[in-house]
Amino acid sequence: MVGKTTRRGLLVASGAAAGGFAGWSWAPGLSQLSGVPGIGGEPPSDTLLNDASQLSATPIHSHVRPTARGDALIAAFRAELEAARAEGRPVNVGAARHSMGGQAIPRNGRAVTVDDGWIELDTAAGTYRVNGGARWSDVIDALDPQGFSPAVMQSNNDFGVAATFSVNAHGWPVPFGPMGATVRSLRMVLADGTLVVASRDENPRLFELAMGGYGLIGLIVDMEVQMVPNLRLMPGFEVMAAADFPARFAAAVKDPGIPMAYGRLNVDRAAFFQEALMVTYAPSGDQSDIPPAAGSGVMSHLASFVYRTQVGREGMKRRRWWVESSFAPRLAGESTRNSLMNEPVVTLADGDPNRVDILHEYFVPLEAFDGFLVACREVIPDAFVEFLNVTLRFVDTDPTSVLAHSPTPRIAAVMSFTQEMTARAEADHRRMTRALIDRIVALGGTYYLPYRPHATVAQFTAAYPRAAEFAAAKREIDPSLTLRNNLWDSYLEGL
Ligand SMILES: Cc1cc2nc3c(=O)[nH]c(=O)nc-3n(C[C@H](O)[C@H](O)[C@H](O)COP(=O)(O)OP(=O)(O)OC[C@H]3O[C@@H](n4cnc5c(N)ncnc54)[C@H](O)[C@@H]3O)c2cc1C
Repeated sequence: MVGKTTRRGLLVASGAAAGGFAGWSWAPGLSQLSGVPGIGGEPPSDTLLNDASQLSATPIHSHVRPTARGDALIAAFRAELEAARAEGRPVNVGAARHSMGGQAIPRNGRAVTVDDGWIELDTAAGTYRVNGGARWSDVIDALDPQGFSPAVMQSNNDFGVAATFSVNAHGWPVPFGPMGATVRSLRMVLADGTLVVASRDENPRLFELAMGGYGLIGLIVDMEVQMVPNLRLMPGFEVMAAADFPARFAAAVKDPGIPMAYGRLNVDRAAFFQEALMVTYAPSGDQSDIPPAAGSGVMSHLASFVYRTQVGREGMKRRRWWVESSFAPRLAGESTRNSLMNEPVVTLADGDPNRVDILHEYFVPLEAFDGFLVACREVIPDAFVEFLNVTLRFVDTDPTSVLAHSPTPRIAAVMSFTQEMTARAEADHRRMTRALIDRIVALGGTYYLPYRPHATVAQFTAAYPRAAEFAAAKREIDPSLTLRNNLWDSYLEGL
């Protein structure tokens, strides 16, 4: 057994990357934030809590940050729940607060931010136990010296591990399903204070509700998660017609010699979504003396520079595509599995206080990818918000979670837009998002829930047909509706 504990005091300022190029600007997480004028109608307050969108300022009652684990964390959760029940207020736990639509914020309630990186490896079982509030950077720090790597995590290392399970995130290691597929068991405190263990064998119903359950089922204390060997990896690059991508990608992700893969599409208007780049990583011949996980390298900073210069400049979008598809492949060299995922979101931060980068993500059945390309070509270029990037990942079938975004194998298209911080931009973004969701749900796809809450309730239930079942089960487990956030308030409460 190898154990490790790290602690952070405050949330850090952060930018973002989804697959290396999708950035956004500083993300306020704590109280004492100003409201966004003209958006949302919330008066400025000294008890507002916001998230990575900077557009979610929401009044809260209180905010605690227990840096605790095990029994101490259970006691801290119980104290918050008990006080909230007595006051008739909601509770919600968040970690890095990089969700973008109040999914980690309890309106007028008791907010809890967890952040304690305790990790203990069981190398014989190929698993580790981890505090729910640990960040992926903590996990990599603990696993890397022992020769292991997270099986599935996002493309950046800032996010909370329990938060990742709670949104059922995915990354670009293949051929996995979402992160929940790699969780063996967890302990969580239910709204009435009961501590439960949940896994596929023990309390399986609680497990399938909590996986992708956005903190609405229980407060996760710690988890047992699968790990895989760390590897030295060499990249390979292939440019192709966008329409050819699904078949080539499906073949690559099924190849046992390829543990990581992703794609990109060109985003300049003249040839929008016409070409694809597929990047695959294969183990190097020599797996001895794997170097320690590095952070952001020169290539990440170069990518960030090129990424930012494309805002408002079509010519730069064309040049960026050339850099990514023709120039960077000549420079790219060996890396490690851990180094590739050990990227903080701050690398690609946008320093413009008047703009914010907003992510979207769509989970598209492989056979519907052509329709997806057509929908994007018809909807995105007309929008007032500016499209910056799309990264393509593979997510295998998720047979477990009730709110599953990938009930069949999917190509996950992670999109990044830059938006002015104005009501006009927000309204235009909402219009465009709804148009995209209509088209993609009609193709049998889904959209991802941690981003802006622009979808209508009808779109939500069309994309997540088991939403009413989830809401009914949640009411049974938490009849006083103590665990609440904006996902519940906006989408689930009325079902
Ligand atoms: C720049 C950027 C890049 C991203 N890249 C990816 C990506 O590659 N793949 C992907 O799938 N997603 C990606 N995302 C989305 C990301 O996975 C989610 O926003 C995730 O919620 C972020 O983790 P967090 O720690 O910030 O969560 P938070 O926003 O703090 O919380 C998210 C949810 O988890 C719940 N939660 C948190 N901790 C607990 C706990 N202990 N117990 C119970 N519930 C809890 C909260 O209540 C909330 O509903 C990205 C987002 C950004 C902004």
